[in-house]
Amino acid sequence: MGMMTGFIRQGLWALADVLFPPTCAGCGSLGAALCPACRAALDWVPPDRALVDLSAPDGLDDFRAALWFGGPAQKALHRLKYRHDVGLAETLAGLVARRLARPELDRHATLIVPVPLSAERLAERGYNQAALLARGLADRWSFRFAPRALSRVRATRSQVGLSRADRLANVEAAFWADRRIVHGRAILLLDDTCTTGATLHDCARALKVAGAGAVHGLAIAQAPLRQATAPVGA
Ligand SMILES: [Zn+2]
Repeated sequence: MGMMTGFIRQGLWALADVLFPPTCAGCGSLGAALCPACRAALDWVPPDRALVDLSAPDGLDDFRAALWFGGPAQKALHRLKYRHDVGLAETLAGLVARRLARPELDRHATLIVPVPLSAERLAERGYNQAALLARGLADRWSFRFAPRALSRVRATRSQVGLSRADRLANVEAAFWADRRIVHGRAILLLDDTCTTGATLHDCARALKVAGAGAVHGLAIAQAPLRQATAPVGA
């Protein structure tokens, strides 16, 4: 995805916000997709905070989450995911790209890959929220966006209400990576939300089976593990 395309996309979203003022995803006030007060209330995760178990063989090499799942971040992600408010992906990607240091990865050798939806869910929703967020970050951090690197080969049940063991079993062998795209590449793997990290680990394993190098996990929001069995995203 060229830089110019990214600038044009960002410009069009900015223009749309002027022509059709949005309401704030956090508090409903008119004028911005996320108002200054709600931006200030975002709960950023301190860097280098260990949030998922990185000891799984052939799993993630490292992991970073931008925000704690809660407050305006939770409301914005919910609206992006379930209310078709796709412009929020640009808003969130912009905030995250400004707040987090650009990952120190070779921009020529690294692909940014979103966690895919199943074909059924993609058809139902019309878009993959993780892909929209990944594209926004790829534009801003100058990484190649690779939306077709990973696919879901088996529809998983909703993770809501499952125990950690059931969540792990639920995503077993659910992903397939395209060797022609990922072989020899480092991967920045993006999901909108993370709970135990099981989904990201399973994606990382599929990427490595297909010859990818290091896989760096990034989630826009992290659900605190003590809440991992609560209905996240509901
Ligand atoms: Zn607000």
